[in-house]
Amino acid sequence: MTERVARCVCGQLSITCRGEPDFVGMCHCQKCQMRTGSVFAVNAAYLNEHVTPSGESKTFTRLADSGRKVTFHFCPECGTSVYWNGEMRPEVTGVAVGGFRDTGMRLPERAVWAENRYPWVHEPGGISVYPKGHKYGHETVAPHLVERPAGGDD
Ligand SMILES: [Zn+2]
Ligand SMILES: [Zn+2]
Repeated sequence: MTERVARCVCGQLSITCRGEPDFVGMCHCQKCQMRTGSVFAVNAAYLNEHVTPSGESKTFTRLADSGRKVTFHFCPECGTSVYWNGEMRPEVTGVAVGGFRDTGMRLPERAVWAENRYPWVHEPGGISVYPKGHKYGHETVAPHLVERPAGGDD
């Protein structure tokens, strides 16, 4: 079984993830931009029974744009946020894909909050793009993103 470990920058906080995530998503919301310091976040959601956190974390709870609470676990030493749990889907743990050392994580299935996307960011081909959260509004797949190279992902 595939096993991946996501770590904070100093290595004190980590989470071991077994198998493949339930879903992988990109998020363009402003809070994810602020949290990561990047222009979008890439998150892998694992069923709780497939992850094992290790190390000391501090938590920060905020309301997601959905209005539900989400609690982020970050390293008190280096400040990296490594994983989180939300009220919306309490059975899964979100993991920061950038925390994995290998680059083998699959292509995300969807991108959300695209209405807040930097204009020069383009999703990889074929993933579903939602203007807001994926529970809201209409799904779109950007026309220029539909094509995938032959023998693409997976
Ligand atoms: Zn750390
Ligand atoms: Zn977000």
